[in-house]
Amino acid sequence: MGIPKILILGAGYGGLMTAVRLEKILNYNEAEVTLVNKHEYHYFTTWLHEPAAGTKDPDKCRVGLDQILDMNKTQFIKGTVTSIDKEAQKVTLENGEDLSYDYLVIGLGSEPETFGIEGLRNHAFSISNINAVREIREHIEYNFARYNQEKSSDLVTIVVGGAGFTGVEFVGELTDRIPELCKEFDVDPSVVKIYSVEAAPTVLPGFDPELVNYAMEVLTRKGVTFKINTPIKECTPEGVVLADGEAIKSNTVVWTGGVRGNAIIEQAGFETMRGRVKVDEFLHAPGHDNVFVVGDGALIINEEINRPYPPTAQIAIQQGNNLGDNIVATIRGAKLTPFKPSLKGTVASLGKGEAIGLVGSKKIFGTTAAIMKKVVDNRSLFLIGGLSLVMKKAKL
Ligand SMILES: Cc1cc2nc3c(=O)[nH]c(=O)nc-3n(C[C@H](O)[C@H](O)[C@H](O)COP(=O)(O)OP(=O)(O)OC[C@H]3O[C@@H](n4cnc5c(N)ncnc54)[C@H](O)[C@@H]3O)c2cc1C
Repeated sequence: MGIPKILILGAGYGGLMTAVRLEKILNYNEAEVTLVNKHEYHYFTTWLHEPAAGTKDPDKCRVGLDQILDMNKTQFIKGTVTSIDKEAQKVTLENGEDLSYDYLVIGLGSEPETFGIEGLRNHAFSISNINAVREIREHIEYNFARYNQEKSSDLVTIVVGGAGFTGVEFVGELTDRIPELCKEFDVDPSVVKIYSVEAAPTVLPGFDPELVNYAMEVLTRKGVTFKINTPIKECTPEGVVLADGEAIKSNTVVWTGGVRGNAIIEQAGFETMRGRVKVDEFLHAPGHDNVFVVGDGALIINEEINRPYPPTAQIAIQQGNNLGDNIVATIRGAKLTPFKPSLKGTVASLGKGEAIGLVGSKKIFGTTAAIMKKVVDNRSLFLIGGLSLVMKKAKL
């Protein structure tokens, strides 16, 4: 075998962190690293609720890959992966190009899980990438702009399906954005409605009840109407129909109710659960010592509660770091290090100056949590792109 070829699919938190780590530790000519991504930039998925609501410029939530990677060490291909042939060890791109590999890293992220709810795929938006959030922001603005001509309340009614982490953070941002929109388009704030609809008996399922109550109090005060324990039955061009029969008329439905692994993984014939591959302790896809999965496509079990870890950027970054080391160890015939997540805590934003979080076992609320949220966001920047990325993009 000549120089081993490492092919990384996706420049999200998992894939990009793998490439960054490989650049640091591979010796000259020890391997050929190629990274394929749909865009020539990396976006900060964990910030996307902000540009979606219009409280942040989408440009501030992305960085050119050439500003993170040394393009002399990592070959970058802008392209869309359409299939993986694990037997032939090749990946095909949308333009028909085939890429062969000795080691494959799949970091293609997730896609919305619609749980078979009729109409969601066609009529709801999802907060999934820079182009998607630009569309949501523009759509909301356009509907506000139409309101005074058409006077239909559907135009200024926003339904957010799913009150997990993403849904709650998004409605928090919306509550900050709505007053600005009302002012800009002369809309009476009392006609605007934001609904947060959740199938589970609580918002933020799995979070500490005291933190959940705090979040609901803050968001209700800021104008959010919660519909808890109320699954969405159907999404139509007119809005949503809930399981209890109520119909909410709305021109803007945003689905944040869950994700599954990128369909390409399943289509390649890997065994998956909700599109995610149950990887081993070294992030190998079962039965494939040269195929690794990182980030939202990888399923790992939290042995303490015997349930999968939720897909997070925090874990994706840690996996990328570990995987870079393990690929190099594999090439060198050295011992691999098992991946173990080291959870630092979770902080959910509730809009400007408000958040909730659990750091270690300590509960934090309000301004303290909002400051901590910025620390967490800036820390991710540092892990991916060092001080120079923090200087360019830090949240102050
Ligand atoms: C609004 C929001 C807020 C969040 N907040 C938090 C938080 O506070 N903390 C936290 O830990 N997690 C949070 N998450 C979850 C976190 O963002 C994800 O778990 C994380 O982004 C997963 O990383 P990844 O590397 O698997 O995929 P991603 O970061 O999604 O990256 C996938 C990459 O693959 C590329 N790609 C996809 N398909 C193709 C293709 N066919 N061909 C080529 N390239 C492709 C994409 O363009 C993208 O660059 C949040 C998510 C959202 C949506």
